[in-house]
Amino acid sequence: MKQLFYLIFIIPLFSTAQKPCATIMSKEQMDKLYTFQQTLDKSPYLFLNKTTKYVPIKVHIVGNDKGVGYYKPDLLIASFCKINKDFSPIGVQFYIKDEINYINNTQLSQTKDDEIYSVTDNYKDPSSVNVFFAGSSDTYCGVYYPGLDAVYIINGCQGINATTLTHELGHFFSLPHTFYEWENNTTPPLSSQEKIDGSNCRNVGDRFCDTKPDYISSRWDCNTIHNRIDPNGVSFSVDSSIYMNYALDACHSRFSNEQLAAMDNNLTSRGIINQNMLMTNPAVPSLIYPIENDSNQNAASVRLIWNKSEGASLYQLQVARLKLWETAYLNILVKDTFYDAKLFGNWQFNWRVKAISLSNMCGDYSDSKSFFAKIFPIGLTELSLDQNSIKIYPNPSYGNESIHILSNTTCQMTVVDITGKEVYKTEIVKGSVFDFLPSQTGLYLFQFMLDGKNMCKKIMIQ
Ligand SMILES: [Zn+2]
Repeated sequence: MKQLFYLIFIIPLFSTAQKPCATIMSKEQMDKLYTFQQTLDKSPYLFLNKTTKYVPIKVHIVGNDKGVGYYKPDLLIASFCKINKDFSPIGVQFYIKDEINYINNTQLSQTKDDEIYSVTDNYKDPSSVNVFFAGSSDTYCGVYYPGLDAVYIINGCQGINATTLTHELGHFFSLPHTFYEWENNTTPPLSSQEKIDGSNCRNVGDRFCDTKPDYISSRWDCNTIHNRIDPNGVSFSVDSSIYMNYALDACHSRFSNEQLAAMDNNLTSRGIINQNMLMTNPAVPSLIYPIENDSNQNAASVRLIWNKSEGASLYQLQVARLKLWETAYLNILVKDTFYDAKLFGNWQFNWRVKAISLSNMCGDYSDSKSFFAKIFPIGLTELSLDQNSIKIYPNPSYGNESIHILSNTTCQMTVVDITGKEVYKTEIVKGSVFDFLPSQTGLYLFQFMLDGKNMCKKIMIQ
């Protein structure tokens, strides 16, 4: 429980996204950093060797006991694109290690310290950066725990273009705050205050000589002037651009060169770079079904199909009204190249898909298509066989509307009319939709051969 003392607790004065960070670096880490910083004065650090370094992040997404409150997948993807951009000066490409680890634990989702200390080690992947996304905190937006060597990010603090994760990864890779020694509104003695002339930059503050003095340990807005007076009586403006300060996220744009060197050195010493990673850039998928402006979709179950993109390990599927992707009705990661969406009726929807590979989550979405979902009138039903392996609707079918056959398995289908005559025979492929439009009304028998079983359903075409 010793690590608990590394935490500081700050009375929440801000909305969620403006809460501070709760990281306090350990003495051991700071000593190691100081030793490295001394080497910066002797010879230049060759961190600008831009060989791509693939670094695995084990993503843990924490919900409550009922699995509610998970960090949203679209934000996760956006966050990876953001950190890959922010760490690109040292050639780091983060990727998601294996499957996302979903954890249902109310105490952990509320970032209760006892729970964090008792379970984090059990979940950690030893050869990755471990990042936990959790629902809430009374005090902070993010924290790196030196004792656990793990990062916790509060969901509401890591939206589009947020820098919380970038900042906490900075801590993970050895960086202190730029206002080190001023933490928690402490004012260090004059002899420990960094001067703007750089004369004591290696001995006080964060001890990086290319970050300006920073005396501000609460969240601040760079749109207002925040001048401070250094020990020589010189007024200076605090630099808001560095990720490791407490300026608001929108003020941030960079790490300093010395910070980058320190992170690169720390990363190399950790031995977690994946040397065998193959970069794949999956192609943008094309949308197959429903076809553009399809108006005969059963809202209760709309099958969306796109083509396979080579190298993709996941697809991000979005279904939205009026192309409002930020507030998409459906926004999920899918392994297959199809998904049965449960929507609401009598509306037009737009949908689009992005292919995601482990090494590239930042590709483009497909062009969007639209379709109309409707509630089928009472009396029309959807039939299903073999625990929803195959779905057929609508029954009965009227006029010239097709019968839709949705299959989650590859099988043979034979359609027989009332006289016993075979009118159609085909193989239906897993994840496809087959539309059948008979030339005559009447009763039809749909037979499916599935794993040696013969199953059938009668459908009335009126
Ligand atoms: Zn911090």
